[in-house]
Amino acid sequence: MNNACVADALSQSWSSVQSFTVLDDDFKDGLLFLTLWDAWRKSTSRPKRLHVIGLLPGLPDRVGLQNAVRASLKGFGGEQLLPQLESMLEVWPLNLPGLHRMEFEAGAITLTLGVGPIEVVLNRLRARVDRFVLRHASLLPQARLLATDGAQLCMSDQSAELSAKHAVVCTLVPITRAQPSVVTSDDPWLQSPVAFGAQHALVVGAGFAGMGVAQSLAIRGWRVTVIDANWGQHTSAHQQHAAAALTPMVSKDDNIRARLSRAGSLRAQSRWGALPESVLLRCGAIQLQRGQGRIVDLRSVLDALQFPSQWAQFVSAEQASELAGMSLGRGGIYFPTAARVHPQGLLNALSTTPGIDMLHGQADRLANTSGVWQVLDASGKVVASAPHVVLAGGVHTQTVLKQSGLLKERARLASMHALGGEVSFIPAADLAGGPRCIVAGDGYVLPQQEGHCVIGSTYAHAAQEVLVTQEGLVANLKRASGLLNIPELSGRVNVDALGGWAGWRAVLPGRLPAIGPVLHAPGVWVACGFASRGLTWATLAGDLIAGALNGEPLVVENDIIEAISDN
Ligand SMILES: Cc1cc2nc3c(=O)[nH]c(=O)nc-3n(C[C@H](O)[C@H](O)[C@H](O)COP(=O)(O)OP(=O)(O)OC[C@H]3O[C@@H](n4cnc5c(N)ncnc54)[C@H](O)[C@@H]3O)c2cc1C
Repeated sequence: MNNACVADALSQSWSSVQSFTVLDDDFKDGLLFLTLWDAWRKSTSRPKRLHVIGLLPGLPDRVGLQNAVRASLKGFGGEQLLPQLESMLEVWPLNLPGLHRMEFEAGAITLTLGVGPIEVVLNRLRARVDRFVLRHASLLPQARLLATDGAQLCMSDQSAELSAKHAVVCTLVPITRAQPSVVTSDDPWLQSPVAFGAQHALVVGAGFAGMGVAQSLAIRGWRVTVIDANWGQHTSAHQQHAAAALTPMVSKDDNIRARLSRAGSLRAQSRWGALPESVLLRCGAIQLQRGQGRIVDLRSVLDALQFPSQWAQFVSAEQASELAGMSLGRGGIYFPTAARVHPQGLLNALSTTPGIDMLHGQADRLANTSGVWQVLDASGKVVASAPHVVLAGGVHTQTVLKQSGLLKERARLASMHALGGEVSFIPAADLAGGPRCIVAGDGYVLPQQEGHCVIGSTYAHAAQEVLVTQEGLVANLKRASGLLNIPELSGRVNVDALGGWAGWRAVLPGRLPAIGPVLHAPGVWVACGFASRGLTWATLAGDLIAGALNGEPLVVENDIIEAISDN
């Protein structure tokens, strides 16, 4: 059976459903995906959402793929697929491990690529699947795949021998119902697709986490009411926060935090790419090699990871200085995609997403009435209600859960704590104009914005309140001195004339966030514990929660989901 026949067979079965998910275990050059996309465009009974999961052992580079697919399209007269091919190539991902999500047709079509050995990737997927297109007989029962009712195997042009093996694979369907090791339809991450445009959710908290979730829901057609105690006021959490860094991180063993940060950075770039430079400046970041303390040889870290240089590359002190536009004295890892972000500018931009309503209010607790969640204030007045609520109030999420009787004693969330800190603003002229890219290591210095650079930041353990302090300023100047190789900075500037911003980080053990359902309260989700990585994890949290609520394949792998959703 060729791609056109497979696509035809698939499109026969999607008649007027909300959402349709296909798993293709041999994505190769994507021809089946492109053909299916074409069929979707032409179909009068197409699903509102078409999700394709493609598995492949390694990611071909964009140019190689372009040449190969163009040649095959010409070979069988498939030139009508060229526009789709070009759209796919425009967002073709870098060859990084993990899952890659691409969106087309304003999000109506998604492509999720799982890269690596098929048996490894399959075990890491979590998705509802309507049709399997199988060329390999290696589907494993551990895969977190929920075959929907009536899910079928769609055979490709394989031999009878392989077809016989597929019969074994077919047992995936009963296995999903029978074996506890495999998901059941009770898995809150695998919800049924919902009617487009008919859903309403509340989000408590209009910080990075809350607005990341609100945006992800709204662009999927949801009506979202965001409730924040300080929205639009001078006391708004990030009103005075002049700039922050959106940077990936790496670890030699590519641990869960590093993978989560990579996935988050990629999601943020995809969602926020169109923001103006005043809000998001893609300036790159250098993580300098430490000269003292806990020294990790960054060159060997990158050698072990083998990432493409467009994502991370080791640079010498000379190269680092060239990139920063000032003499740095040390080399390190350069992340070309890192960005400087204006926090309140970002939040304001996200709040204008059609479908989002901002509401001023303080959530004290939740109550459930006939399956609808109410957010109540301290006087017991209902602030708003909806079937779904996402708590994204930073460390206060814990308090709201507790007040609602929903905080389990042993839950990870019970050990969340607040860690204060401050950044300082320094005239760029005092830093020889400041760096052209983010310079990080022990703290960071950001490229100047409106004549000032943000330097930081401090960690105030057991603080009762957060304030901009003289000690904080001096500590931040010391960090900037070390990073920029400018001795005695605090002696050169007028410390009294400097400003700053102070805030809280919500921290969980392992510095991993809490993103996921509150299991004993169906309809309640959390997105908090973002520690120092609020920008990196916000969009990912949104796409995970909104994706789950829409029955989409999830954007990160199972082991990551389990680590962040064990709440
Ligand atoms: C000094 C410092 C520097 C930092 N630098 C960076 C950086 O460069 N890059 C980066 O990614 N991260 C940085 N961070 C971390 C970042 O600020 C946090 O990760 C981020 O703010 C977490 O976002 P959040 O939405 O979870 O919480 P918040 O930003 O704290 O937002 C929570 C929101 O919820 C609202 N809220 C809380 N409780 C309630 C309630 N009961 N009812 C209604 N509303 C409520 C609050 O008013 C607030 O608007 C820094 C943090 C500090 C302290």
